[in-house]
Amino acid sequence: MTYESVYNASIKTPDKFWADAAEQLHWYERWDEVLDNSNEPFYRWFVGGKTNICYNAVDRHALGSKRGQAAIIWESPESGKKRILTYFELYREVNKFAGVLKNLGVGKGDRVVIYLPMVVEAAIAMLACARVGAIHSVVFAGFSYESMAERIDDAKPKVVLLADAGLRAGKVVPLKGIVDKAIEKAEHKIEHCVVLDRGYAELNMVPERDLDWYEAIEEKGQFFVEPEEMESSDPSYILYTSGTTGKPKGVVRDTGGYMVALHNSMEQIYDVNDGDVYFTTSDIGWVVGHSYIVYGPLLRGVTTVMYEGTPIHPDPSVWWEIVEKYGITHVFSSPTAFRILRKHPEKYLKTHDSSSLKYLFLAGEPLDDSTWNWAADALDVKVIDHYWQTESGWPMLSNMPGVEALPIKPGSPTKPVVGYKIKVVNPDGDQVPNGQKGFLVVEPPLPPGNLLTIWGNDERYKNSYFGFFQNKLLYMTGDYGIEDQDGYFWVLGRADEVINVAGHRLGTREVEEVISSHPAVAEGMAIGVKDEIKGQAIICLIVLKDGQNADDEKRKELRNLIREKIGPVATPRDIKFVTMLPKTRSGKIMRRVIKAVAEGESMGDISTIEDGASIDEVMNAVESMQEELT
Ligand code: AMP
Repeated sequence: MTYESVYNASIKTPDKFWADAAEQLHWYERWDEVLDNSNEPFYRWFVGGKTNICYNAVDRHALGSKRGQAAIIWESPESGKKRILTYFELYREVNKFAGVLKNLGVGKGDRVVIYLPMVVEAAIAMLACARVGAIHSVVFAGFSYESMAERIDDAKPKVVLLADAGLRAGKVVPLKGIVDKAIEKAEHKIEHCVVLDRGYAELNMVPERDLDWYEAIEEKGQFFVEPEEMESSDPSYILYTSGTTGKPKGVVRDTGGYMVALHNSMEQIYDVNDGDVYFTTSDIGWVVGHSYIVYGPLLRGVTTVMYEGTPIHPDPSVWWEIVEKYGITHVFSSPTAFRILRKHPEKYLKTHDSSSLKYLFLAGEPLDDSTWNWAADALDVKVIDHYWQTESGWPMLSNMPGVEALPIKPGSPTKPVVGYKIKVVNPDGDQVPNGQKGFLVVEPPLPPGNLLTIWGNDERYKNSYFGFFQNKLLYMTGDYGIEDQDGYFWVLGRADEVINVAGHRLGTREVEEVISSHPAVAEGMAIGVKDEIKGQAIICLIVLKDGQNADDEKRKELRNLIREKIGPVATPRDIKFVTMLPKTRSGKIMRRVIKAVAEGESMGDISTIEDGASIDEVMNAVESMQEELT
């Protein structure tokens, strides 16, 4: 099998290709049609098919030959605890919790918000939702109460699942108080919260509303809950991500297409075989966690490792000790994590036996050559950079060693994976010659697993992703890219106003709305600039109202406000006060210019700028930020 032949089959005969992939999974009813694209750009896969993703991820193995095999290994150096669940134990736990959900009146199509740290119960909760047909919406347990309230009002869940606290870098991160405040702020009313008491933070249980996790299981759990037969296109989850406008977008995932795409990716992209142990270092709050901590490895019937903590706490050998201990075969991590590890001596990686490791997959942000080289050397392993998004749910560009390993070009996530027709185009949507920069797009139809729509907002789905090119229906990734003469793609970063901090996506406007909500602020802007560790960092330039003091106190207030409203991921690296922002004569802030100044690049054409003095001021502000850093 060559990459070329498999890829071509997926493009030329997609119905056959995806039907073959789907047949490897369990369906209550077979589909009538592999793809319905009669209502573009809403693509529906395996129409008429009925399935349950929890059944496929858990029951299929637990009631088959893998009942005694480890399904989840949970390691929490933060708490000094670990737990291993076999497939059968997982099956038991998922059924019990599905019973709790059913007893709380949660059924098909109801939403459940999950605000849990990296504990086994989080995976159990997601699978239990899937079992009863509920749509989960995991919110990263690091987002602020305001962000949580916004998501509650959008998803309108019946139930919220949470814990007293998470643990990170030796610190307790209390969560219950955040949820209480979010529920208070949200207009939508929550019927029940199920609270996992880990014994780290105060609970202040609200009578009637709040239930203790294990008491609820005791009282309401069941030994067996029949999995709900879901239409293939029924939503399985909502996952919020940032876009170019203020409000986060609720990416809606289907059931059947996602399941098939993930299952196939485990074999063809990640080259996973029976008995492999798969360690994804992300968090269930992100798409990587959904797809490759929980669903992907379990659908494939291998062991997944869940990890609570950071790559360097208590020291930078912590992940590699785990790799050695369990004979981990696949690590999936982020460039930022490796840039952090790289600040420490290689010995932390090298003193552990990582010879079981077949691959290190990295994604989420551009991977620079030197980090690629360092990781490949330190671990003596194949390092595979691959590219995808919350919207796609699984890789779009990647080497596919499960089919045929292509030569690696460090810095390039290789070629389109099966099912994806990816092109680099100009603003008219016409393909540009190889070697030229353009917008990275997907030619429809979107392969299975991609988003169905934006929750409650089909128009926004159409406009955000398919409205970019006037006369051509193309899915806009939001990224710039280049295709080289060998058909390899190079991703050059976002073409829109989205910042990627340590692989986490943030909209500049989201941050700007918070800045301008401060009473002392006249106007302000946030931009993403290159950062040695996180890939990008946020810096803010702010114009204060007349009579306001530009002092450290105000800087602190603004920083805290951003943390409080969005969450610690959005904390700006620096905030500078200026008297004006560079604007065009029509009043548009010249982001491009500011970004160029901040990154020490040429400003390009600035003839449309209204007042040249603002550039000097911005330049001075940015320079002083850089001085502070060095
Ligand atoms: P998210 O949806 O938060 O995972 O962010 C997706 C975005 O991260 C993409 O649109 C890219 O801008 C960026 N990204 C993800 N993977 C890569 C990669 N391998 N190389 C370059 N950029 C990437």
